[in-house]
Amino acid sequence: MPPKRVLICGAGVAGSILAFWLAKHDFQVVVVERSKAEQKAGQGLEIEEPALKVVKLMGILDKLNEKKTGEMGFDLVDQQARSYGIFEVGGISPTGTLELMRGDLTEILYKTADESANVTFQFETTIQSLRQTQDKVIVDLESRNNKTIKVENFDFVVGADGVKSRTRQLVMGLPEKLKCFKSVGAFVAYFSIPKEVQDWPYSRLCHFTNRRILWIRPIGKDSKMTSVHLIHGHEDVPTLRRANAAGDRLKQKEAFAELYSGLGWETPRVIEQMMRAENFYSDELVQVKLQKWSQHRVVLLGDAAWAPTPFTGEGNQLAIIGAWVLAQELSRNRNPVAFETYEKRLRSYVDNAQSIPLGGYAPYIFNPQTTWGIWLLRTIVRLFSWTIRFLSWTNLAGMLPDQQQNDFDLEIEEAEAKVAR
Ligand SMILES: Cc1cc2nc3c(=O)[nH]c(=O)nc-3n(C[C@H](O)[C@H](O)[C@H](O)COP(=O)(O)OP(=O)(O)OC[C@H]3O[C@@H](n4cnc5c(N)ncnc54)[C@H](O)[C@@H]3O)c2cc1C
Repeated sequence: MPPKRVLICGAGVAGSILAFWLAKHDFQVVVVERSKAEQKAGQGLEIEEPALKVVKLMGILDKLNEKKTGEMGFDLVDQQARSYGIFEVGGISPTGTLELMRGDLTEILYKTADESANVTFQFETTIQSLRQTQDKVIVDLESRNNKTIKVENFDFVVGADGVKSRTRQLVMGLPEKLKCFKSVGAFVAYFSIPKEVQDWPYSRLCHFTNRRILWIRPIGKDSKMTSVHLIHGHEDVPTLRRANAAGDRLKQKEAFAELYSGLGWETPRVIEQMMRAENFYSDELVQVKLQKWSQHRVVLLGDAAWAPTPFTGEGNQLAIIGAWVLAQELSRNRNPVAFETYEKRLRSYVDNAQSIPLGGYAPYIFNPQTTWGIWLLRTIVRLFSWTIRFLSWTNLAGMLPDQQQNDFDLEIEEAEAKVAR
């Protein structure tokens, strides 16, 4: 039997990890990615258990550690830069133990998968159209570089092409028809600006009224840049919505500049630099909710299937775990039954991971509307940080709750561990 051919659309976290594991299971894999190979957009992403096990098995932990941001903790500040509590890395801190810039992470992953003779990456390429027969998928691949279209046959196609997945649209229809986008009432912008001395080694977050957050995060000790997250908790901002729909980066920047104009702390510096930032990325935060993740020989993975939004902190975790499970199920059933078992194993875990903390109210509680709300939040954070310090002095820190970790059985068997080596 000739090896099965799989097309993966999207060389993000999910796509490259899936390519790596499918190649280990003797599939022939083609990965198409619409961006250039050196695409560096995106800011910090975290890897924790159980996803950490998957990257350990890939043998890339040292490479990941070399590139981690090195952020030492989180500091909540006010407009006069006064601290309301520092939370060191790990535990309940928003700073994870293994955090990387998205560009560094995707580069390590794609280069690792690319080492296999079974994997071919094609950048600046996308799926133009596809049609399924009983036993194959016929795909028109469009190279944006030389404007050519190539027709190829695959046994399976995987859409790992993010929230606005083209693969999903081609096989299931537009998001409006599917009603698969669930807004969580927030707009975000991520970009990098030149680093100043105060930007290292702690990340610093400041609240402003009308649900506006400015969060400045380290990229690395030796980096000349620092990372910025703007989070605006609002149901609708027409200028931003229009700019997002048109994919107009300048208009997105102008809309954020207007939203954050006249604010204190580091805002004037950040907004001035934002206008020059090349790796600016902005969108409305939506969750993806689908009745089913596959259709015959085409399956969805990662944000394309179940984007949970950064409010859950689970997007990257789920992409890694999902890629592992899909590769495992395809290796067990080399036919579309694998997509049923993949969904069966993951569905309730994903549903859980999509639930927004504090009964869905976390985005409102942690991003207050009024001056009074911000004062209350800062006071609670200050009391909490004093309590932590007191427990550390008295050696009672073990009483503190650790960050909730959702367990998932990766079914790592001895044979698979051997394949990994
Ligand atoms: C540019 C960018 C920046 C991001 N920044 C952050 C961030 O700062 N913080 C955060 O928490 N999350 C961020 N995310 C989301 C985060 O990467 C994901 O939630 C998580 O890693 C799951 O990844 P994924 O592989 O499922 O999807 P994604 O990371 O979205 O990857 C999808 C990949 O598919 C490619 N693609 C899309 N459409 C096509 C197409 N038609 N043809 C071919 N390829 C296509 C994209 O270029 C991308 O490389 C960002 C995503 C992107 C795309």
